[in-house]
Amino acid sequence: MPLGGGLMNRPTLHRFYGWVLLGALTAAILAVFSFLAWKDFDGRITAAARQGHDTTWFLARSVSERFRQFDRELSDLVGRIEAAGPASMKSPDVWERMIHTTQSVEHLRTIGLVDQSGRLVSHTDYRDQLPSIKVADRAYFKFFAEGGVQRSLFISPPFTTRVSAETALALVHGIYRSNGAFAGLVVMTISPDAFDLLGGMPNLPSGSAIAIHRRDGINLFRVPPLPGQLGQDLSRTALFTQSLPQAPFGVAWTRPEGSIVDDTERMLAYRSLDEWPLVVVVGVLRREIVAGWRADWMRNALLVGIALVGFSWLAVVVQRQITGRLEVELALTQTEIGHRLKIEEELRVWATTDSLTGIANRRHFLDIADREIQRTRRYGRPLSVLIMDADHFKSINDRYGHAVGDEALKAIARVAATCLRDADLLGRLGGEEFGVLLPETDPVGARELAERLRAAVAEIDLTVPGGSVRPTISIGGADLSAEGEGIDSVLARADQALYRAKERGRNCVELVAPAAV
Ligand code: GH3
Ligand code: MG
Ligand code: MG
Repeated sequence: MPLGGGLMNRPTLHRFYGWVLLGALTAAILAVFSFLAWKDFDGRITAAARQGHDTTWFLARSVSERFRQFDRELSDLVGRIEAAGPASMKSPDVWERMIHTTQSVEHLRTIGLVDQSGRLVSHTDYRDQLPSIKVADRAYFKFFAEGGVQRSLFISPPFTTRVSAETALALVHGIYRSNGAFAGLVVMTISPDAFDLLGGMPNLPSGSAIAIHRRDGINLFRVPPLPGQLGQDLSRTALFTQSLPQAPFGVAWTRPEGSIVDDTERMLAYRSLDEWPLVVVVGVLRREIVAGWRADWMRNALLVGIALVGFSWLAVVVQRQITGRLEVELALTQTEIGHRLKIEEELRVWATTDSLTGIANRRHFLDIADREIQRTRRYGRPLSVLIMDADHFKSINDRYGHAVGDEALKAIARVAATCLRDADLLGRLGGEEFGVLLPETDPVGARELAERLRAAVAEIDLTVPGGSVRPTISIGGADLSAEGEGIDSVLARADQALYRAKERGRNCVELVAPAAV
């Protein structure tokens, strides 16, 4: 018997396993799907990081090159002035040279010369009538005037120029006398959009930003530009406090609540320049990375969902077919079993019942009697047996016909049955002879009952064509007494008593005297 076979029939079991299988399959598909989605998410982050990394490499190269060019021009100018002496700062030759440089170098806006007191002494925007401008308070001036490193490039934060009131970055070199004393500055201003062409990086996701920061965290440039972001101090961000100190290039994330620059969460690919104290940063919006992934996997989920529904539908259809067939088989089996049980019952009834009177037949009567005698003997209980024989029955047949005789036999059986208890057994021993088994009944009780039977049968009055039939019976009885006595022996003794009843004149009762007597 299969597991649970006691509780579920085959179609139900089949259906149950079917659902379990479908559930397991769905769970497996969902697990694989989630895994693939997660892998893909991971892959996209990695791909974005790699792309950002590549972009910073390209940016670093072009920014380095640009600064190298500015630096070269500054060095060239400083070299000329130093060769001719600081007095040459006001000379037309130097001014011409400065004009030439601003015109030939892209994005270079102005060049100004500042003397050792911080006063502007030459400027490309003014040939004559130079306005009186002092820059002694500027950080770049202090840097060199207070002993900054000679021949180094100073990159100022974006500021508003005093000459044209425009936002600019200043690139500054110091000018020195031959004895090494500080003599002034060359200040180049370049527009913050000098790096605009870098904003046109191909293939960056929309919303991406590119920035150039000074290594100490001052923001120099950003595309797209944001109000107030130029010169912003970012030195306290994770990029400067954690990532850069650990590795000169890599990936950092802005705080989940958003970057302090524009309040969005970004992945920052950064690279520190070898030659200049600068850091280039490419910021890709996290939501941009996630949005593409989400859109793709929403579509995948939809497809998988449709496939699952279709598959489930198919599975249900197939299962219905199978369980349907099993149910038909089961129904057939059950019908067959019912049919067989009915036949068996019919056989049993046929084998144990007398067909005319409907009471136990001879064989059944003897079987039951045998069993009852054994039980009675085991517990030492009384038991009696009666034989009833219809009187002059031959003459009833002769006078009214065999069919009326049959009716009379049925009437006798019916009436006798009404006189008996449930424990008693009435059987037809053959012809017009009946046996009565009386468990728990001693000879006194047996006689009383026999009298009642006799009297009851004597009351029968069958109305038949041509008169009425009033059958009577004679009864012989015996009780179980001798050791090891069987039903045959008891019946034989009862038969002897019956013989005496017939002799005595019929329609009366005779009991064998107890065997011991
Ligand atoms: P007695 O009082 O001595 O018993 O007389 P009796 O005629 O009953 O006895 P006997 O044995 O001579 O005859 C029995 C008769 O019972 C013979 C038979 O025709 C009749 N008989 C036996 N079985 C059936 C039966 O199934 N149906 C009918 N109608 N008659 C039966
Ligand atoms: Mg007889
Ligand atoms: Mg008879």
